[in-house]
Amino acid sequence: MESKECARCGRALKDQKSIARGIGPKCWKLAGGGAFDEDLDVGELEWLIREKQLQNGEEISLGTYNLHDNLTMQVHIRYRERFYEAYGRLSDGGERIFGMGTDLKIVYAYAIAAGPTAAAEAYRMRKKKVI
Ligand SMILES: [Zn+2]
Repeated sequence: MESKECARCGRALKDQKSIARGIGPKCWKLAGGGAFDEDLDVGELEWLIREKQLQNGEEISLGTYNLHDNLTMQVHIRYRERFYEAYGRLSDGGERIFGMGTDLKIVYAYAIAAGPTAAAEAYRMRKKKVI
């Protein structure tokens, strides 16, 4: 998932964190990122609680993102067949899987990045069509 240019504006990325998520800091905010960044900085007990919640069939919701004028995506984490899954529920009924695995911390990081990344890519595609 490493990228040297911003998924939203196409400018070169400088710092390690931006390169890892593929979006610069300003575009991250503009694409709806930021609200869940601190979700990863919790203790082991909180991670265990989240794992239990998910294994009991609950989902963790990580926001709604605008992709196009009439298309939004809600990002969630769920547990299915022994895997945690980061996925997006589209307002047109579609679904996108962003990552799955047995390590919730990794899947959670995927889920946090998924919404802003999809919004940033959609923004860039819209812009390219105009030009
Ligand atoms: Zn950018």
